[in-house]
Amino acid sequence: MPSLSWCCGPFRHSIAAMATKPSAAPSPSGAGDEARRIRVVVCGGGVIGACTAYFLATKGAGRVSVTVVEKSAIACAASGKAGGFLALDWCDGTPLEDLARASFRLHRYLSDLLDGSQTYGYRSLTTLSLPVVAASGAGRSGSSALPAWIDGAAAARPRTIGTPETTAQVHPQLFTRTLLSAAVANHGVKVIIGDVHSVEIATKKGYAADVGLRDGTVQPADAVVLALGPWTSRLPLVSSIFNISGLKAHSIVLRPPESAAITAHALFLSYQPAPGAKAMDPEVFPRPTGNLPVIFLKSPIPETLMMESFEIGEVYICGLSKEATPPDDPEEIAGESDSIAMLHKIAGAVSSHLKTGAAELVAEQACFLPCTDDGQPVIGEIPGAKNCYVAAGHSCWGILNGPATGAALAELILDGRSTTVSLEPFSPARFLRRRGFS
Ligand SMILES: Cc1cc2nc3c(=O)[nH]c(=O)nc-3n(C[C@H](O)[C@H](O)[C@H](O)COP(=O)(O)OP(=O)(O)OC[C@H]3O[C@@H](n4cnc5c(N)ncnc54)[C@H](O)[C@@H]3O)c2cc1C
Repeated sequence: MPSLSWCCGPFRHSIAAMATKPSAAPSPSGAGDEARRIRVVVCGGGVIGACTAYFLATKGAGRVSVTVVEKSAIACAASGKAGGFLALDWCDGTPLEDLARASFRLHRYLSDLLDGSQTYGYRSLTTLSLPVVAASGAGRSGSSALPAWIDGAAAARPRTIGTPETTAQVHPQLFTRTLLSAAVANHGVKVIIGDVHSVEIATKKGYAADVGLRDGTVQPADAVVLALGPWTSRLPLVSSIFNISGLKAHSIVLRPPESAAITAHALFLSYQPAPGAKAMDPEVFPRPTGNLPVIFLKSPIPETLMMESFEIGEVYICGLSKEATPPDDPEEIAGESDSIAMLHKIAGAVSSHLKTGAAELVAEQACFLPCTDDGQPVIGEIPGAKNCYVAAGHSCWGILNGPATGAALAELILDGRSTTVSLEPFSPARFLRRRGFS
């Protein structure tokens, strides 16, 4: 069972006593309180960067200064376009087991703390596995386990694969932005919009690295975290050791006319486009109904911290992935028309509420899963680059695993070891070991 004690309720009072000598050296120069703080630059404003910044700032209150550098907008890539599905035990028996279980609990803790059900659509779900055969001519299964809105003629008998105790969801973009907004507003985190161009090891200067931005400015850092999703290995510091590739996946977001009719059921489909054809495995995630206050974090705070009311009550449908190279600019990622058309067809096969013409179109989009060569995330200090850390490659579980990744990395950076979960299975050094380096 992972130890979450440091980040739960009473930790605010005990954290200073629990903290041990920081492993990242404090800034050597300057006077005053700010100059004595450990400067951590977190590169990338996706869910992994946001979680890392949040836990660094809460755990290191008073002794850390955290700056997030994001190229475009917070959660503009996969972290804004994911499903937001969370599962307690679906990674059991894999190297992700402890990370996923700790993260599932941290999501519940964060939701209690940040009013997640109101601010980012956190809720428990029942999760069904559902075979769907297009144009099968079969009638609806009539199973009482099938909610009334799943009225597509092609939907067959479901199987319950998750309960409200074991499965949940967040709106991933709102989660990421809310968490980072809380870190900015309550814990002094700074956000810079800038394009990280280089990370030069700078130990001879007495600190870890110079983070160079494309506009020519430099952020000196006592510790650096690279959380750039599928763009992480564009930096030579990383690509010399391992690769993070991108798997492009598509999604659509629909707003059904009677959103209150859509129950809290996540669907994992096995969809056959025709009888006997190879099945696809799209996923359907209804989101809660209502108006959520949305915080937009675009550029330095507080000037552009804006609150807007955001109506959800949407249904998100994703699937249809393929290998591809992400464009340099995350904002340029576009969906392919045949994949988007297939998702609309699948939506209509599941429910009349989701048929083209009945539902309002909210989004047609694509994004990239960040993947390592061995399928496991890479979290830890980069070999040969003291106080330079990486957190990337979370593939299809980054929204789930963001919180424990951030919490464990904060412990590693500030205490020299993580207690939330062991990061050993995710060490970047494993790629060197496989190549025969010790
Ligand atoms: C279709 C789909 C559905 C998914 N559904 C789920 C789900 O239901 N549950 C789940 O747990 N996971 C899900 N995932 C996986 C999850 O979305 C990812 O694992 C996670 O978002 C990765 O987060 P990240 O912060 O590592 O990367 P990203 O979200 O890609 O963030 C990286 C950030 O770095 C920024 N950046 C890039 N280059 C630079 C630069 N040079 N300088 C500064 N900033 C830069 C980018 O703009 C971006 O904001 C899904 C993914 C996809 C594609």
